[in-house]
Amino acid sequence: MIDKTQLYIDGTWTDGVEGRRMPVINPATEEEAATAAVGTAADCDRAIAAARRAFDSGPWPTMNRIERSELLGRFADELRARLDSLAAAITLETGAPSATVRPVHLLAPLAHLDYYVEQARAPEVTTLPLQVNPRPDGTSWLGGSAQVREPVGVVSAITAYNFPFHLNVAKLGPALACGNTVVLKPSPNTPLTAALMAEAAEAAGFPPGVVNVVNGGADVGALMCTDPRVDLVSFTGSEAVGAAVAAQAAPTIKRVLLELGGKSAMIVRSDADLGAAITMGLGSVMTQSGQGCALTTRHLVHADIYDDYVSGLADRVRAIRLGDPADPSTSMGPLISAAQREKVEGFVDDARAAGSTLVTGGGRPDFARGFFVEPTVFADVDNSTRLAQEEVFGPVAAVMSFRDDDEAIAIANDSNYGLGGAIFSADAGRAFEMARRIRTGQVHINGGSGASPGWDPFGGYKRSGLGRELGEAGIADYSEIKTIKYHAG
Ligand code: NAD
Repeated sequence: MIDKTQLYIDGTWTDGVEGRRMPVINPATEEEAATAAVGTAADCDRAIAAARRAFDSGPWPTMNRIERSELLGRFADELRARLDSLAAAITLETGAPSATVRPVHLLAPLAHLDYYVEQARAPEVTTLPLQVNPRPDGTSWLGGSAQVREPVGVVSAITAYNFPFHLNVAKLGPALACGNTVVLKPSPNTPLTAALMAEAAEAAGFPPGVVNVVNGGADVGALMCTDPRVDLVSFTGSEAVGAAVAAQAAPTIKRVLLELGGKSAMIVRSDADLGAAITMGLGSVMTQSGQGCALTTRHLVHADIYDDYVSGLADRVRAIRLGDPADPSTSMGPLISAAQREKVEGFVDDARAAGSTLVTGGGRPDFARGFFVEPTVFADVDNSTRLAQEEVFGPVAAVMSFRDDDEAIAIANDSNYGLGGAIFSADAGRAFEMARRIRTGQVHINGGSGASPGWDPFGGYKRSGLGRELGEAGIADYSEIKTIKYHAG
């Protein structure tokens, strides 16, 4: 399935200076499924040097934008040619159910990459108006200016484990579309997906050093933030590591983009389509076993329909088919690791101790192997408790009630995070007004548009992050803007 499990630096595959390897654990079996090369400080140094060279003297940043777009398009083609291998790698590394991998993990991000292929063709120069400017001596001066979009330079891209292909595309796409060069460090849990992506980059024919992939943990990640040759750090991961990334990058004043955690609220008004709301609520538990940053894990339900919602959600959650992610009939797989399972179980214990009502789940299924936990629903959750305030990153729903719209918005905003959100209501206008009052980067009304097109920006308020991915805002985050003023007469 995967031929290359080495590092990809400066257009060549390498075992790394020390030849170290790390195990890739299949979370559904707890077995070592493969090994992958791990980079050291020396490998990281080589990758950054290659990216710097490719930026400073290579053809990439100054390449004609049509040619650059074509190369990015070839990258998309090469990724599409590897869909089967990528799907198998994602299921093996993350435990994602195979039924969800193609549509959610692969095809949606590939559509985002297509958007970046288009964006790469956009003119990088905008002409601003000519002006006649009076001077103190009574003469005048004719002049104008142009605004030029340029790449920032060398990008360190550091990603999380839960949607490895999507997260890597979300950084490579805009960074490359703007003419930056990239050192990508995937999560230590997901080197196989990243190796396939490096293989696709090699086949697409990017100049050496434009795309580099170095596996490693916090040591390599830290160097990618502190190295003065790096211009921009784009990070997706937890709030705690995001804060460390910002601190590491601060002394050299790098631009820092952070896509961090969330504790998003779904508001279900009394006039809502209850079935549709329950389906989204189910998704927040089941999707990637609850390991999703923008999942609406706080379910705020109007008191008049609260009991119906809780029992309806619990019924759907009990029907989740938990099991082998390679089996196409499985709807929910394992968590990523034993440590993550323990963390989730700690939340369950705390929620019980805090007086929340356990409606279903809360334990481990009776499986011989795998980092599985039961999908779980807690009702009567107080928004001040740990379950409501901290990111679980596991299949645990926190359901609570409200009496009016103001109270719902107050609870939704009573969070350090601000990533996603949802409102269900028959009154779409009222829901739109409420969406305006929620302090998060995205709000879905009645299930949203049903898609995540490339032009919809994504990112967080508050401790959910800095900057935006996708859309024009995403391109701006990977660009410098230069104003060139000229004298015309
Ligand atoms: P994590 O923060 O533990 O690790 C993320 C990455 O940071 C990994 O590649 C890791 O090796 C690296 N890293 C660790 N220490 C570092 C350091 N000191 N300097 C630089 N890099 C370092 O996150 P995770 O457990 O892989 O992923 C889960 C988290 O990611 C959740 O909080 C989730 O909400 C978040 N996430 C956010 C988004 C988003 O778009 N907002 C998307 C997916 C995941």
